[in-house]
Amino acid sequence: MNGTGRANDTRGGAAVPPVAVVGGGLAGITAALALAEAGWPVTLYEARPRLGGATCSFDRGGLTADNGQHVFLRCCTAYLGLLHRLGSAGRVRLQERFDVRVLTPQGGTGRLRRAALPGPFHLLPALARYRLLSPADRLRAVRGALALRGLDPAEPALDRAALGGWLAANGQRESVRRALWDLFAVAALNIPPEEAALGPAAMVFKTALLGRADAADIGVPSVPLGDLHGGAALAAIARLGGRVRLRAKVDAVLPGPAIRVDGRRIEASAVVVAAPHGQAARLVPAEAAPDRDAWAGLGASPIVNVHVVYDRPVTRLPLAAVVGSPVQWIFDRTAAGGLGRGQYLTVSVSAARRWIDVPTAMMRQVFPPELERLLPDARRARVVDFFVTRERRATFRQAPGSGELRPGAATRWPGLFLAGAWTDTGWPDTMEGAVRSGLQAARLARRHLERTRAREGSP
Ligand SMILES: Cc1cc2nc3c(=O)[nH]c(=O)nc-3n(C[C@H](O)[C@H](O)[C@H](O)COP(=O)(O)OP(=O)(O)OC[C@H]3O[C@@H](n4cnc5c(N)ncnc54)[C@H](O)[C@@H]3O)c2cc1C
Repeated sequence: MNGTGRANDTRGGAAVPPVAVVGGGLAGITAALALAEAGWPVTLYEARPRLGGATCSFDRGGLTADNGQHVFLRCCTAYLGLLHRLGSAGRVRLQERFDVRVLTPQGGTGRLRRAALPGPFHLLPALARYRLLSPADRLRAVRGALALRGLDPAEPALDRAALGGWLAANGQRESVRRALWDLFAVAALNIPPEEAALGPAAMVFKTALLGRADAADIGVPSVPLGDLHGGAALAAIARLGGRVRLRAKVDAVLPGPAIRVDGRRIEASAVVVAAPHGQAARLVPAEAAPDRDAWAGLGASPIVNVHVVYDRPVTRLPLAAVVGSPVQWIFDRTAAGGLGRGQYLTVSVSAARRWIDVPTAMMRQVFPPELERLLPDARRARVVDFFVTRERRATFRQAPGSGELRPGAATRWPGLFLAGAWTDTGWPDTMEGAVRSGLQAARLARRHLERTRAREGSP
């Protein structure tokens, strides 16, 4: 079992058992760091041999691949804060100005680039010139954007409505949806728009595209995710005196609070459960969270990434969105993956129910030909490697009614808290949501620890 830092500590002179954080994804990492920064002893327990949770990397013959392309936006302020804490802020590339090329297999292209105007007018010039929509559809899109701006994402009725139905009812016909709304909704919510809850969709559109002008500038990692998050977190937590136990699967959360690992009870001054909802429902006692059985209703939605290595460069675009193709987004991963010659592209496919069980050999018959239609230079290149990463439970299903199933950070037990991108963060299941949940759980845990200390009369 790996471990770093100190096991037990004192704060203000009184010995306190460490706070136990269960789960070393971004939520657990954030909670552990925030508690350690505030001077509380903390131990992070992670079942796997690495930190980073749903964001990880692996080696493939000298190439470093991620389990799936991860993207963030400039409005992901909590996530950017985590990168700073991890010393990783210089290891991502954040666009100076939101700029997305949109490709089609028929050869038509569009470009969505923000202008130097204040929000929400910053995208109007791009929309006015967007060649993948007819002039009448551009007008429809503007009307749709105005209607979206009028929605309150926190309104419970929006959680029960579907995005697809709302778009249709607001004049956004199929052509507008496919060439505009779906591009961002599918990537952000990981569910087909007709099955997506309107509330989180409205939140994403309002915050990212219809709010501050710079909110949607796109950020991508320029190093493997395993280095950006997991590796950096191990070092950062140790630097702050926290402890990390890898390959340490927590079996139960017990009254006290305490946890059980390998059959052994470990006392804790507080417990933060930052595991995915399925595992959390098994760990958290029903007395602490009577609604825990309902969490299963959040379900799961898959993401598939198709990785293609060419013997030569096939595109200069760092990223592109695609309309009318199984390819949804393309990312150039050549430098981040450490490829010396040729080009390494990943194709990100969200809401990938259709692809999750398709054998790699069959996917190879679909995706490289499709890339040749989108990127003409790929026709002259040779595919030197092709592989697929599949995340069956990439996010929960952000379907109508899912919002009311997401619990807050507090439980009925005073010292037990929940974190994770699936909890009620106000954000979809994203890195930003995960970090926000970790910060909130840490805030509540600190309040609990301070109250306990005051009650026990510690100095
Ligand atoms: C392929 C893919 C692409 C994605 N793309 C994006 C994107 O572009 N942008 C974006 O913002 N988000 C994206 N996401 C979503 C994002 O990765 C997640 O929302 C976020 O990482 C979840 O973090 P978390 O800490 O809540 O959960 P997790 O990362 O799932 O971490 C939970 C951890 O708990 C551990 N654990 C579980 N049970 C126990 C136990 N009993 N004891 C100890 N440890 C336990 C697990 O091993 C895991 O490490 C993507 C996800 C995937 C899979």
